[in-house]
Amino acid sequence: MVGAGLAGLTCAVTPATTLAAAPDDEDLVRLELERLWSTSTREWDLLVRHHVAAALPAVPPPLALRRPVALGDGRFVAGDHRDTSSIQGAMASGRRVARAVAAHLGATR
Ligand SMILES: Cc1cc2nc3c(=O)[nH]c(=O)nc-3n(C[C@H](O)[C@H](O)[C@H](O)COP(=O)(O)OP(=O)(O)OC[C@H]3O[C@@H](n4cnc5c(N)ncnc54)[C@H](O)[C@@H]3O)c2cc1C
Repeated sequence: MVGAGLAGLTCAVTPATTLAAAPDDEDLVRLELERLWSTSTREWDLLVRHHVAAALPAVPPPLALRRPVALGDGRFVAGDHRDTSSIQGAMASGRRVARAVAAHLGATR
């Protein structure tokens, strides 16, 4: 479509964080987009919809911002599930693992 804008939305659809009550609840998603961007979405066309199962780690209460990365016996684990469910969380966990591995190997700095 020439001259048309393109909008994208990632929404979590889980019992805990409900942006849409069901994955196919397009009306609720449109309402949320209207709220976010203060405009009507009634004329917008839905181009594609991707359902990503298990897209993000569950974050059940109580909130634990940092989970252990050293599992013992020289085993380490990194990923968003160790910090926050985001790229930033994944990178932060990677940094913590690097430090933990260095300490495990006896690095002095
Ligand atoms: C649709 C969507 C939109 C998102 N948007 C944002 C955003 O805007 N901003 C943001 O900060 N975050 C966003 N996120 C979250 C972000 O992408 C993730 O938090 C982040 O990529 C997690 O990084 P990770 O390295 O922990 O895991 P991943 O990126 O999931 O990497 C894990 C890797 O391990 C591989 N793997 C899994 N099992 C095995 C196995 N048994 N053997 C070998 N390899 C295996 C997988 O194939 C994958 O490549 C989004 C996520 C989704 C799904």
